[in-house]
Order: sequence, then C-alpha cells, then structure tokens
Amino acid sequence: MKYSELVELYETLDSTTKRLAKTYHLSQFLKETSADDLEQVVLLVQGRVFPSYDEREIGVANQLAIKAICLASGVSSQSIEKEWAKAGDLGKVAESLIKGKRQATLAATELSVKKVFDNLRKLTELTGQGSVDRKMQLIAELLSFAKGAEARYIIRTILGQLRVGTGAGILRDAIAWAYFPKAVGAVFVKCGGCHKTVPPADICVECGMELGKEPKTTAVETEEARKDYNELLAEIQTAYDLTNDFALVAKKAKTEGVEGLEKVEIRIGNPIKIMLALKVDSVAEALETVGRPAQCEYKYDGFRLECHRNGEKIWLYTRRLENVTEQFPEVVECLKKYVKADKYILDTEAVGHDPKTGKYVPFQDISQRIKRKYEIERLAQELPVEVNVFDILSCDGKNLTAEPFNKRREIIERIVKGADMKLKVSTSIVSSNEAEIERFFSKAKADGTEGLMIKKLDAPYQPGARVGYMLKYKKVMENLDLVIVAAEWGEGKRVKWLSSYYLACRHDGGRLLEIGKVSTGLKEKREEGFSFDEVTEMLKPLILEQEGRYVKLKPKIILEVAYEEIQKSPTYGSGYALRFPRVIRDRSDEKGIDGINTLEDIERLYKMQKKQKA
Ligand code: AMP
Repeated sequence: MKYSELVELYETLDSTTKRLAKTYHLSQFLKETSADDLEQVVLLVQGRVFPSYDEREIGVANQLAIKAICLASGVSSQSIEKEWAKAGDLGKVAESLIKGKRQATLAATELSVKKVFDNLRKLTELTGQGSVDRKMQLIAELLSFAKGAEARYIIRTILGQLRVGTGAGILRDAIAWAYFPKAVGAVFVKCGGCHKTVPPADICVECGMELGKEPKTTAVETEEARKDYNELLAEIQTAYDLTNDFALVAKKAKTEGVEGLEKVEIRIGNPIKIMLALKVDSVAEALETVGRPAQCEYKYDGFRLECHRNGEKIWLYTRRLENVTEQFPEVVECLKKYVKADKYILDTEAVGHDPKTGKYVPFQDISQRIKRKYEIERLAQELPVEVNVFDILSCDGKNLTAEPFNKRREIIERIVKGADMKLKVSTSIVSSNEAEIERFFSKAKADGTEGLMIKKLDAPYQPGARVGYMLKYKKVMENLDLVIVAAEWGEGKRVKWLSSYYLACRHDGGRLLEIGKVSTGLKEKREEGFSFDEVTEMLKPLILEQEGRYVKLKPKIILEVAYEEIQKSPTYGSGYALRFPRVIRDRSDEKGIDGINTLEDIERLYKMQKKQKA
C-alpha cells in the first residue's frame, strides 16, 4: 500500500472532530486494506509500530527531528527552529520545506506503508554509539521521498504527536463496522440524500445532509439488532482486552469473523489490562452493589503487579503494562519459591516495607524502584516489596477469566503457599454483616493499609473494565488524578521553575477539560521530596508553545491532587474549580491519560460533597 493512501486517511480523520465520522472513515479504510497490510495500518493509525502492550516507542526528540529535516531539505536548523516557533508544528514545517525542495529534485520513488513502518521500527531498535546519526538518516531518508502531506505525518508520528483521534473506542467500533456489515447495517440509517447506509449521526458522513430531515432517512434499527450489535462490540473489546493488540484483533475479525474473535486467548508473557475498581462510600452501598456475602480484602497501598510465569520464564508488569521484571528480582524469586504452579498469571499488589521494622512504607517511598535501572539489588535489599496475591487469570494453561471470583480465589489458596513480607494471599474475610466488615476495615487501617476492597463472589474477571465487581472503600474525600496541560514560570526565587500548573480532567472521547491551577504541595529543595525543580525537568521537554510566562504543554504528567472542596466555576473548561488544591505525588508512572479522573467523577464528588454538607 502507498503511504499516500494512509496519509489521505489521516487528513480525513484530522478534518473532523466527530466521533461517528472518524469511525466511519476509518472503517471504510480498514475494509479496503488487505490482510497483509492490516497489521501495519492498524498500528500506524494509532501512531505506533508495536502493539500497546509493548513498551517500545518511536520516541524521537524534537532536536533529532530538526536535524533530520535539515539533512533532507538542506535548510539550516536555525531557520527550521524559527519556522517551528511560528507554526508551532514541526510536521507542518517539514511539509513546507520538503515541498519547496521537491520542485527542484523530483524523486521518483513513492513511499510505501511498509517502508515507513520498517524505518520507524528500526528507530526503536538503535541504541549506543552512532545511533543518533543512524536515526537521523532513517528519518531523513523517509523525508526525502515524501510528497505532499507525507512529511507532516512522518514527523508527527516520530514525535508521538499524530493525534488523529483514533482512540481505543473508535478503533473497536471501526473494526466492527468494517468486517461485520450485517450486524452493523441494522443499526445504521439510510440517508435520504445519497441513499447510502451511514451511521446515525446528526449529519450524513457521506454527503453532509442533515439526517432525520427531509428527504426522510430510513431508520432500520430494532431492539434485537441493537443487542446483536452491542454483543459484537463486547466480543471485539474482550479480544482486545485479552491481547492489547488491535492489529491482531482486526486481522482475526477480517479473516475469521466472530469465531476468530472467540478464539483469541490470553497469552502468558503478554500483559493484560487489569480489572479496575469503583469507589463506594459505605459498606451498605458496597453490599448492595456486589451482593451478600461479599469478599472483603485489605486494600494495600502499593502498586499493581501482574505476574506471569511459563516454566522458567517470569514476567512482571505494572498496571500501565510496563515490563518491570528486571527491577524486582526478589519478586521473581518469591514467585518461584511460594507459588506451586508452572504456568499462570496472577494479579497482585506489591507493597514496600521496611525490613528493619517490618512495617509497610507509603507508595511514594517505593515508587523509585519502578523506573530504576541501576543498583537494583541494593534497593531490593533496602526497600523490598511484599506481594499480595488477590486474583488469578490463568493457571496451567486454562483461561480463568470467565470463572467466578470465589473459584479463582480457591485456586489461589491452593497454589500460593506464602510467607509474610515475601508473597502471600491477600488478607480477607467473607461476610454479609456490616458491623463485622466495619471492624475488619478498622483492622485494615490499623495494619497500615488504605481500607478495603469489597468484591463480588460470582463475578468473572473483566480485563480493562471498571464494572463494579470490585469496590474500594476508603472513607475519605478522594484525591484526584489530573493531567498538567499548561504551566507558568514562577517569579522571584521561583523564576527558574515552572511553578504553577493548569490541571485537566478527562471527558467524552478523551477531551481534556481544565479544572484549576495548583502551585502548592511541592518542595523547594529536591532533598525534601517531590520538588518544583523535578516537575520543571519533567515538563520542559513537553512544552508546545510559550507566551510570556505561560507555556502550553503536551499532556503527559499526571499529579495526584488533594483539595478542600470542589466548586462550580466559569473560569475553567470543566465548569468546576478546586478550592485549595495541593500536589500529593506524581502518578505519571502508574497511570496514562486514560486513567485520570473524568468530568463524571468530578460531578459525582461535587454532588456527594453537597449531600454531606446538607
Ligand atoms: P485505586 O488505585 O485507588 O483506584 O484503587 C484500586 C487499586 O487498589 C487496584 O488497582 C490495586 O492496585 C489496589 N489494591 C490493593 N489491594 C487490593 C486488593 N486486595 N484487591 C484488588 N486491588 C487491590
């Protein structure tokens, strides 16, 4: 396939903000894509060259991209920087410079998707001496063949700024629309203008006519058709949640249909999206949601660790699916010693503890181990973790995700022969009695944990979903996880730091809405803890635009923020503001933007707070 065809799709996707229109155009494209090209196309529309479970990223820095543009266009880096400052988009700068050059030297070769994909993959493989030059050549080679808008999208892809708006929901729906015309056709409408069968948007995605107006559109949807359609989407979603690989899911859907999707299996060694928890404010509410009796477990204040074993090989993944096997050698040892099975996937919480006092330490103290690349053994001795096993997804080659929770727990209790401070089954009781659960909650707090997780006994394991099969009960006004979208340089002694941060929550389809500005909670000196200096270092490479003291940032850094109250406010896009916000900690290593709090969460907390005041 020619890269220009994919670029045409990017431009179409860029030209609309409407979810249904994006899904429709993407689905049309996928339908026409051959099975051989599908993997590369599905990855490239996500701006990646590896599936989402794979940590390898293209990750090219702005300066390297500038050098490559310089090499391909013959224009000096200074001029490129100047153009960049004006346009604010290095992709556009590359496009215009390469276009200018092209008139002079018309290269005959057309870029193929495969060529672009191969070069981008090579970028991820190069390390060590000479790798920067080699990377620059790989990018420049693509740019020198690029025509029209191709250079723009090559640059955006390598910088991780493709942003054509094809998130997981859109990709899932597009796969359904592309390969299951019957199920999908039944929920589409026939446009009275162009007579095509199109998604039920306000306006026809094909001809732009207002749907539902004269000439009449025909709605063919029935309740049954909607049910079939939703089941199909769930089937695709499950296949994705089990594999984290849309390219594989698309290929199965295209070549084998629903049967292929059903055959998609958990693969030991490939991380799976974990099941997420909902919050409750009382034991009564919890029991109402999960039924009686319920399993109540300590909620450990550590980090999620998914542990895979296949014979001698062991893999450890965080909740963001990062491979941290090397960082936790003591966990690998414990798994071998205390888990009596050869092949499994366990869901666990790893908590740091002080080997001298035997007491748990807060997550902040242990978080440094997650990214650690050196002195790993020393840290494992000084700040070891205890692994608390609370779920199992696969055992001896059998997928257990559809089994009820109490059955999975039985298996854990059978195979985990643990020891305190090393690896053990999470502490729990099964109860229907509210008073007993409250007493257990107090014990959990006294033992240094955050509270309880209350779980539904007959629930399956639903990867990636927040379905109310497990609930967290902490009894405090919860802190918010928000992403920094802009910042301001400080004044006086803070002049060298970006010292106030505009925070945003998430809304429909991943839109970010501002909810306030925070400038307290951080330390002035690094030795004292999480500092302005550290945050500034994290933010500097993310600067997109600067105007006076204000900088716009690529949204990446996620902060946990405490506050006194949520107020309604016209100042911010979310319609809310935080009173007295203060930074608690950095959560960027644990959560992606998908995991931050949503406008719905804010609305819920706002209502809850009103109820409490009343
Ligand atoms: P939160 O991060 O506040 O949404 O709380 C949910 C997290 O609590 C899960 O993602 C786990 O990392 C953690 N957790 C701690 N103990 C347990 C447990 N016994 N069962 C399930 N999750 C737990």
